[in-house]
Amino acid sequence: MSIRDLYHARASPFISLEFFPPKTELGTSNLMERMHRMTALDPLFITVTWGAGGTTAEKTLALASLAQQTLNIPVCMHLTCTNTDKSIIDDALDRCHNAGIRNILALRGDPPIGEDWLDSQSNDSPFKYAVDLVRYIKQSYGDTFCVGVAAYPEGHCEGEAEGHEQDPLKDLVYLKEKVDAGADFVITQLFYDVEKFLAFETLFREQISQDLPLFPGLMPINSYLLFHRAAKLSHASIPPTILSRFPPEIQSDDNTVKSIGVDILIELIQEIYQRTSGRIKGFHFYTLNLEKAIAQIVSQSSVLSHIVNESSEEEGEDETGGEIRSIENIPIEDADGDIVLDDSNEDTVANRKRRRHSSLDSAKLIFNRAIVTEKGLRYNNENGSMPSKKALISISKGHGTLGRDATWDEFPNGRFGDSRSPAYGEIDGYGPSIKVSKNRALELWGTPKTIGDLKDIFIKYLEGSTDAIPWSDLGLSAETALIQEELIQLNYRGYLTLASQPATNATLSSDKIFGWGPAKGRLYQKAFVEMFIHRQQWETTLKPKLDHYGRRKFSYYAGDSSGSFETNLDPHSSSVVTWGVFPNSPVKQTTIIEEESFKAWRDEAFSIWSEWGKLFPRNTPANILLRQVHRDYCLVSIVHHDFKETDELWEMLLDQA
Ligand code: FAD
Repeated sequence: MSIRDLYHARASPFISLEFFPPKTELGTSNLMERMHRMTALDPLFITVTWGAGGTTAEKTLALASLAQQTLNIPVCMHLTCTNTDKSIIDDALDRCHNAGIRNILALRGDPPIGEDWLDSQSNDSPFKYAVDLVRYIKQSYGDTFCVGVAAYPEGHCEGEAEGHEQDPLKDLVYLKEKVDAGADFVITQLFYDVEKFLAFETLFREQISQDLPLFPGLMPINSYLLFHRAAKLSHASIPPTILSRFPPEIQSDDNTVKSIGVDILIELIQEIYQRTSGRIKGFHFYTLNLEKAIAQIVSQSSVLSHIVNESSEEEGEDETGGEIRSIENIPIEDADGDIVLDDSNEDTVANRKRRRHSSLDSAKLIFNRAIVTEKGLRYNNENGSMPSKKALISISKGHGTLGRDATWDEFPNGRFGDSRSPAYGEIDGYGPSIKVSKNRALELWGTPKTIGDLKDIFIKYLEGSTDAIPWSDLGLSAETALIQEELIQLNYRGYLTLASQPATNATLSSDKIFGWGPAKGRLYQKAFVEMFIHRQQWETTLKPKLDHYGRRKFSYYAGDSSGSFETNLDPHSSSVVTWGVFPNSPVKQTTIIEEESFKAWRDEAFSIWSEWGKLFPRNTPANILLRQVHRDYCLVSIVHHDFKETDELWEMLLDQA
């Protein structure tokens, strides 16, 4: 069960996989299906991320425990110690112990930007750096837990805002401290520059350990936008030789980007394996909860493809040799019911009904698919069999039911994906937070004292003169330029816009502005906008107007920081707002706005107002303003359903009558 022992016991190259806990119940249910399919990749272990400060504690513990008890793959739970009471750490470790989890990735985590955590923690918290957590686990639990730590081939980014450059040599001292404190294995930050990793590996072997397991962290390239964002967030450089493989004309063709990405990762693995003479034999994937690209990499890589080719004789057998029997004989709902893509737009009502049903039953579904073997609980698929190696081929090629299940959410489209998708949510899975340093936040947004100052921040973002707001550092998409003037006008009127899209009707998938997905497709979008509005403005002006038009024209969700929620749709409703029709393929829906995801995001969106407010001393004008907005504003999301009338949403919102 210990990753260190398992590592030394395996001779041929292998992989390990990182997942994050999905935000929604159905996302978790679908992730369990996905993790189960991915056991066909024979990972040495899987890891589950932990939101710094314990923001995802319950979700992480639940997912890690369920996976440990049902997948028959050792689970490693991430645990961060910054901003965290000792009691939370103790509770998490005890619960891991009880669930049979024996591997912990001990991390410091990043504090919310408003916390002067280094000073405030120094006196009363035993945890300042990851090394303190490593020591604590080893002292309190002896060898119960095998403990891993993080490393940074290009150097950790701390201090960059103050002008310090990333320097792997600076961090090496502290990495050694973590290893001396008892760390059993090391996983690196993601990187794309193989030379930097190889230089780091040499330093690691010379100065830290000849034989400690060192896992390079690799992130498949799932879309051009996400590739850049992930590299930026992780402070990983992208060598020009890799960048030049994505010329502008293919950047919006997700299939082409993904396939080039698969080649790049295969080459990277090959290079690392050969040039370290096999010293690096385990490759850790940041999956982002997606599976297809990883299945393709494994099946096409000369280093890893033995995983697919070997042991075909195992197929269909239960590796434990134990009898497989269902816990209950309740008929299992067809997996298609959970994750089918609509084949036509008219079909959405029927599919919605099925999904609603699935959502209610998702907990039952997880339980039903667990099976009892002589060695305990394991996760099962709908036929009562464990995944075979053939499954891997289906996943990587997108063939058959497995292939379709694996690929239904393969065009992740920012936060507004599909909350049923396991991949829906944060890009790093470390919880909601402002993703810039305190100094950078002050530089970008200054010290707002009035609502006018807040409007200016949102307007500057729309005008392109600042490249982030606290909720988003993605920058604006090209399509936003089409409604830029309308959005600016809305902000002048106090509607602080967070996200939006213009409508489009049967646009080519190669379109420079709207394009995504495979070539020769047609794309459709309904216009939507999401914004913060003062509660009074919502109740007296906007809501009556929307109610006047009715929900066939405009549907809405609204809620505030107290957890309130209102809608003009039926309970558990959803609206598909982006979909594409492609040759020889079912209709693909990339963006669904629905109640469950709105509620999850509402809470996160308001927590960011709080985090921003904490940047300023209590009771200063900026702190008071941001707390008032947190208290008095609503988050409102409006979808316009008549997508052929491209201007109607904006005209309605800007109409003073
Ligand atoms: P540390 O090892 O404590 O290092 C942090 C910084 O402090 C470094 O700059 C280091 O040089 C410096 N330092 C360390 N010790 C000392 C010392 N004694 N004196 C002075 N300076 C010191 N974040 C999450 O929130 N959740 C996750 O699940 C998560 N998973 C991750 C998984 C991996 C594989 C990696 C690479 C990162 C992950 N992170 C996660 C992000 C991580 O928490 C951040 O990168 C964080 O800033 C550093 O964590 P650490 O454990 O490396 O910290």
